[in-house]
Amino acid sequence: ARSAVFAPLPQPGLIVVDEEHEASYKQSEGFRYHARDLALLRGQQQSLPVLLGSATPSLQSWQRAVDGKTTLLRLGRRTGGRPLPQVELVDMTQTPYRTLLSEPLLGALQATLERGEQSLVLLNRRGFAAFLQCGDCGRGFTCPNCDISLTWHRQQRRLRCHYCDYHQIPPESCPACGGTDLEPMGAGTERLQMELEKVFPDARIARMDRDTTGGKGAHRQLVEGMMAGRFDILVGTQMVAKGHDFPAVTLVGVVNADAPLNFPDFRAAERTFALLAQVAGRAGRGERPGRVLLQTYSCDHYLFGAVKTHDFEGFCRQELAFRRELGYPPFGYLVNLVLAGNDAQRVDRAAEELVAHLGPMPAGVELLGPAPCLLARLRGKHRRQILLKSSSRAPLHRLLSRLQTRKKPVPSGVSLTLDVDPVDMF
Ligand SMILES: [Zn+2]
Ligand SMILES: [Zn+2]
Repeated sequence: ARSAVFAPLPQPGLIVVDEEHEASYKQSEGFRYHARDLALLRGQQQSLPVLLGSATPSLQSWQRAVDGKTTLLRLGRRTGGRPLPQVELVDMTQTPYRTLLSEPLLGALQATLERGEQSLVLLNRRGFAAFLQCGDCGRGFTCPNCDISLTWHRQQRRLRCHYCDYHQIPPESCPACGGTDLEPMGAGTERLQMELEKVFPDARIARMDRDTTGGKGAHRQLVEGMMAGRFDILVGTQMVAKGHDFPAVTLVGVVNADAPLNFPDFRAAERTFALLAQVAGRAGRGERPGRVLLQTYSCDHYLFGAVKTHDFEGFCRQELAFRRELGYPPFGYLVNLVLAGNDAQRVDRAAEELVAHLGPMPAGVELLGPAPCLLARLRGKHRRQILLKSSSRAPLHRLLSRLQTRKKPVPSGVSLTLDVDPVDMF
């Protein structure tokens, strides 16, 4: 895990950071650090070679290689010399409203079943439905602690918050209008599995997500079941994309391929590309060629063109051009100041005072905010953020040291978190 970067080895000869693009290398709570960046620093200090490995490098690392700060080593061939799978887009704007599984994907699943081969179907949301909504008045159910809809988990018969784990049994009728028609809206893996079981009643369908892998050995059983051919279709969240090598999988379907793209984060496209390239890479690892179907509402997005042609470098060029224009990493530096507290007005006031205290911005530094965080309330705390963006690190350091000159940068009842090089900005 990431803390291994601190291992007190007396004489290390090499540091390897595999899957270096993984966001989980950043520890975002308590002592904040990025294990990949620390590995590079440790390598520099101890004159050690550092090897970063990934099929979809982070744009940060890619740009470093482009700039000649690191050496780029290419693996020219896919494992076992297999050809890359054929990637096709399914234009969901041409399907009836609320279609979960398109005709092309169902047809491909059918054909794969008939050939006795296996399929993976990815939908990056667990639970049955994104939320429950009253069919009469439109009321939904939100978490009492967070500004977020509760996800409907049908098997557990619970409405659940995926952030604070609050859960409740849904009421029989709408608390607002008394209507009894509570409709599940949007799909999760649980619903996907159920729909597939309806269409393919004879197929053996398993599901891999956090709900089905919580028990001891459950994840291993699913993997072994796939290897032994006990399942025909494996449905799951991004868990199914991670590193598995199932030789009999010849079809990969992604239900909502553009969903992560709509996340309001400047790394959304980078992450979506990595996820899609990774899950696509699960198809055709054995003797038979693989096929990948991506259901999307944004066929024209350059990302899908690049995924289709396995053109990582083309994607990077396009994406890096945007980043350069907007001054985002790797061409700029960010610090996110997050204020949180129980009293919304107090947090607002503290944020205003903090901006005043920072004073006028030096040249090259831009201050954005204060603004509500994407999750304006999380675990009962109201949250505001101030984002500092700069073309170089030095002025950011000077600004932050200005904060330290003050005994208490924020009043009591409000907490302040400095996140340098933030990875998640919700
Ligand atoms: Zn209602
Ligand atoms: Zn919550």
